[in-house]
Amino acid sequence: RIVSAAPESSREEALERALRPKLLDDYVGQSKAREQLEIFIGAARKRREALDHVLLFGPPGLGKTTLSHIIAAELGVNLRQTSGPVLEKPKDLAAILTGLEKNDVLFIDEIHRLSPVVEEILYPALEDYQIDIMIGEGPAARSIKLDLQPFTLVGATTRAGMLTNPLRDRFGIVARLEFYTPAELQRIVTRSAGLLNAPIDADGALEIARRSRGTPRIANRLLRRVRDYAEVKSDGRIVAGVADKALAMLDVDPQGFDLMDRKFLEAVVHRFDGGPVGLENVAAAIGEEAGTIEDVIEPYLIQQGFLQRTPRGRVATLAAYRHLGVAPPPGSKG
Ligand code: ATP
Repeated sequence: RIVSAAPESSREEALERALRPKLLDDYVGQSKAREQLEIFIGAARKRREALDHVLLFGPPGLGKTTLSHIIAAELGVNLRQTSGPVLEKPKDLAAILTGLEKNDVLFIDEIHRLSPVVEEILYPALEDYQIDIMIGEGPAARSIKLDLQPFTLVGATTRAGMLTNPLRDRFGIVARLEFYTPAELQRIVTRSAGLLNAPIDADGALEIARRSRGTPRIANRLLRRVRDYAEVKSDGRIVAGVADKALAMLDVDPQGFDLMDRKFLEAVVHRFDGGPVGLENVAAAIGEEAGTIEDVIEPYLIQQGFLQRTPRGRVATLAAYRHLGVAPPPGSKG
């Protein structure tokens, strides 16, 4: 897919980093999460203590990594960054934990993918700033306790429901990141265009914003593609008409859905009569992983009212039929 939620290359990643806001004041939207964090960060700073552990959850690309960097910057401490699948053995995590300085932030992305043995040594670290490590092997093996500096764990996950209960219970601050409104994304696009020295007007920014699936990472990616288009096909200025043509070329439809979104909706409507259909069945029909559908594709379709998750399976709404230009089944309600 052209507009995937993950960074495409290291060049794109570098660009993304450059566009990252550094402080809470520059972080657009997410007023609920921001308000909470402002207060708790302020209090931790005043007491010169580590901030309570923070769990950030929400679909990919909404700014969890960005927010973790901001938390560390606002606290005035170092940030160590790793991810669940990278931490294969307890000693991988132990090495990071023992290297932390007082009140540092440890960011673990995809925290739901920690292996159980690694998760096990995280518990006492989170609770008492201590870890138990095994020394030696066989009958001579013994466990020793190591004291750690106080620190803050910031965990990120696409779905809070995928965390084990004991892990979830150890986060004092839980923030759910929401899809951004077009107005918020318009501000992000305008700011990013400024940083990229790309001339853009308000309507051009809004056109990109409306078609970015509520997701800043996608907005920034589309902005770069539209800028390329404007430079080659026009005078370089990003206005609504140019943005519209560029986005159509990229198969981003007026609703902001991409090829995968439409393939998914079409499968539910055409192959399964609009549902209810089980996730695994649609996944098999379109050759996409169930996890990707659940994490990346569905949340936005549900939020926009094109899909419903029911106990019996996924159901396409009237809006989905309308969007695909298909007559809804008789007697159906949206
Ligand atoms: P993932 O969950 O896949 O790690 P993420 O949610 O951590 O994704 P980020 O990498 O933090 O997403 O954000 C993607 C890009 O979106 C960043 O480069 C940043 O420029 C931009 N961005 C994210 N949130 C905001 C925001 N609130 N204000 C301005 N720009 C933002």
